[in-house]
Amino acid sequence: MTRLTRDPLQAVVNVAQLLKEPVGSSRSRDIGGMMEEEVEGFVQGQAKLIRTSRGVLVQCRLTVETELACSRCLETFLCSISFAVEEEFLPVLDLCGNVAISLAEPTEEFTIDDKNILDLSELIRQYTLLNLPMKPLCRPECSGIKEANPHGVT
Ligand SMILES: [Zn+2]
Repeated sequence: MTRLTRDPLQAVVNVAQLLKEPVGSSRSRDIGGMMEEEVEGFVQGQAKLIRTSRGVLVQCRLTVETELACSRCLETFLCSISFAVEEEFLPVLDLCGNVAISLAEPTEEFTIDDKNILDLSELIRQYTLLNLPMKPLCRPECSGIKEANPHGVT
């Protein structure tokens, strides 16, 4: 019997050691837990972190279970979406401890903070939003909103 953990999402990785290793070195991490910002859902999957010449490339395979409202009948239902993620995270500090990225310029890039912490939760949130179905259906043959109850019973 497996019991799903409903703990908050654990998606923070310290990459201090990985950043000292040669390009191509990698780590694997299990990712799991409840995401609660903007999208609520249970996240499960694996992340692979690969040292690149500039930072760390993150590759994940994730499954997110979330409650959606059916676009036809408006009932909520549990929807499971699976997707792949690939993003490069760049350290804000270079190896000498100098600021490597100008924070004055807003950047679309994901960053590794000055404590060598790589936080995947924002990445997971964005990819989940991207992968949510535009017109979710509780089942493919959903026939839409039922006729009003003919007996008027609520
Ligand atoms: Zn439906």
